[in-house]
Amino acid sequence: MITIKDKCSCCGCSACASVCPKHCITMCEDDEGFLYPAADENTCIECGLCEVVCPVIHVQPDVEKEQRAYLVQHKNEQVLRESTSGGAFTAIARWVLDRGGVVCGAGFSTDFEVVHQWANCYEDLRMFRNSKYVQSRIGNTYKEAKQFLMEGKCVLFSGTPCQLEGLFSFLRKPYENLVTVDVVCHACPSPLVYRKYLEAQKKENRI
Ligand SMILES: Cc1cc2nc3c(=O)[nH]c(=O)nc-3n(C[C@H](O)[C@H](O)[C@H](O)COP(=O)(O)OP(=O)(O)OC[C@H]3O[C@@H](n4cnc5c(N)ncnc54)[C@H](O)[C@@H]3O)c2cc1C
Repeated sequence: MITIKDKCSCCGCSACASVCPKHCITMCEDDEGFLYPAADENTCIECGLCEVVCPVIHVQPDVEKEQRAYLVQHKNEQVLRESTSGGAFTAIARWVLDRGGVVCGAGFSTDFEVVHQWANCYEDLRMFRNSKYVQSRIGNTYKEAKQFLMEGKCVLFSGTPCQLEGLFSFLRKPYENLVTVDVVCHACPSPLVYRKYLEAQKKENRI
């Protein structure tokens, strides 16, 4: 059973919660609002899967591969304006949608929470554009990604490097139809701080 003794040994990727066959792991906020797994001892069957998929416990060895770097700027001015940097994400996502694929990214829910969700048309990519400087909730999206991949769909999964490491660990094998986009990310701010910011904005009638 996964137990977080030292918070430095958890990146909050949600792979453990996603893989648990008994659904006994919940991602809960700590005092500062960051998400960590909490396991229910009573329903845990000690299968150990949560530890198997933990990217911090089982660090994957670096595999040497050819790397290429590109400087990219989206040609569409509106896309460029709505993106944080050059809009490479939208261009890559379009490539996937054009092949009948689906795209997962961090967008706002109706109550302004930042959650991972799916898009299957070009217009919906808009919700993922622009950096939301807060830890996004993965929810069931790793499981849904696996389902799409097994059905043979082309899947683009975007997020922080920690979230993608979590996805790779959760999937436990490479898929040719998986495309990933991770943002350059030094760290994720806390959802609690973000909620306090929203409350302050509401008080001043700014939203
Ligand atoms: C939490 C966070 C930390 C960052 N830290 C740095 C940094 O240290 N240095 C730096 O130079 N840039 C940082 N960035 C900026 C980031 O690298 C740029 O936003 C990105 O390169 C923009 O590329 P784009 O214009 O193609 O995408 P955009 O269209 O601007 O962004 C869309 C992509 O960002 C993803 N995304 C947005 N918010 C989140 C989130 N909360 N969690 C996971 N994925 C998200 C979407 O899923 C989508 O893939 C950070 C961004 C985030 C979200």
